[in-house]
Amino acid sequence: MAWFKRESGELDTSGEKKVRTEGLWVKCESCRQIIWKKDLEDNMNVCPKCDKHFRIDARTRLAQLLDDGSYEVFDSDLTSTDPLKFVDLKAYSARLGQAQHDTGLKDAIVNAKGKLNGRSVIVSAMEYSFIGGSMGAVVGEAITRAIEHATDTRSPLIIVSASGGARMMEGVVSLMQLAKISAALARLDEAKVPYVSILTDPTTGGVTASFAMLGDLNIAEPGALIGFAGPRVIEQTIRQKLPQGFQRSEFLLDHGMLDAVVPRKQLKPYIARAFDFMVAA
Ligand SMILES: [Zn+2]
Repeated sequence: MAWFKRESGELDTSGEKKVRTEGLWVKCESCRQIIWKKDLEDNMNVCPKCDKHFRIDARTRLAQLLDDGSYEVFDSDLTSTDPLKFVDLKAYSARLGQAQHDTGLKDAIVNAKGKLNGRSVIVSAMEYSFIGGSMGAVVGEAITRAIEHATDTRSPLIIVSASGGARMMEGVVSLMQLAKISAALARLDEAKVPYVSILTDPTTGGVTASFAMLGDLNIAEPGALIGFAGPRVIEQTIRQKLPQGFQRSEFLLDHGMLDAVVPRKQLKPYIARAFDFMVAA
């Protein structure tokens, strides 16, 4: 005799009894609490329970930083020419097309003009969801133009980094952007226009190795992964276990690599105060 007998032969898998809750709730990776998505958004995408800073897209970032959430986008029409005609598992041109479709952007960057507490500023915000926020020719050119625009108009500059580094699919063309952007920043510095670099989760590779660390102030959000090579690669190279919290904002601050770790809610007033201090009236 069977211990257990199923009444009907089939499991009822019809979707009628299901309630769709997908997208209304988010699980926090850090404290494992289930949070109502609206509560999270009202809290600037910071976990209300444990303060974990969720990743946000470029446009949300701009709206959070600039007055009334309003800004004017510029240089948004640049697109990659796929100079190497690169193909890995998929053609790079197809990846680009998919990312453009998914994000509504031409590449992993949004340049904007707007006001920060009444002061005209230029902001370049990276978009991590566009091929990992990687920097190819378009990101490099857009950031360079933003810097040049800041230099010409003497408007303080903010660059918000969120990037896996240089874009493999554009090879050496990506690496050239490091030098190009750094040179433009040197001219900005000579013109004595301030630049604040905001490093968000994650900022790695060639972006860390160039403009993200070249700010007059380099500030990071709490808990952001910031580094050049990833921890696994470093452990394998030096054959040592890395310390707890290695490559997180707080660790880097303790070791003199950053000027401050600033929670998202305080970013705007913090930067406004910094510009008050840095810009001669
Ligand atoms: Zn949490």
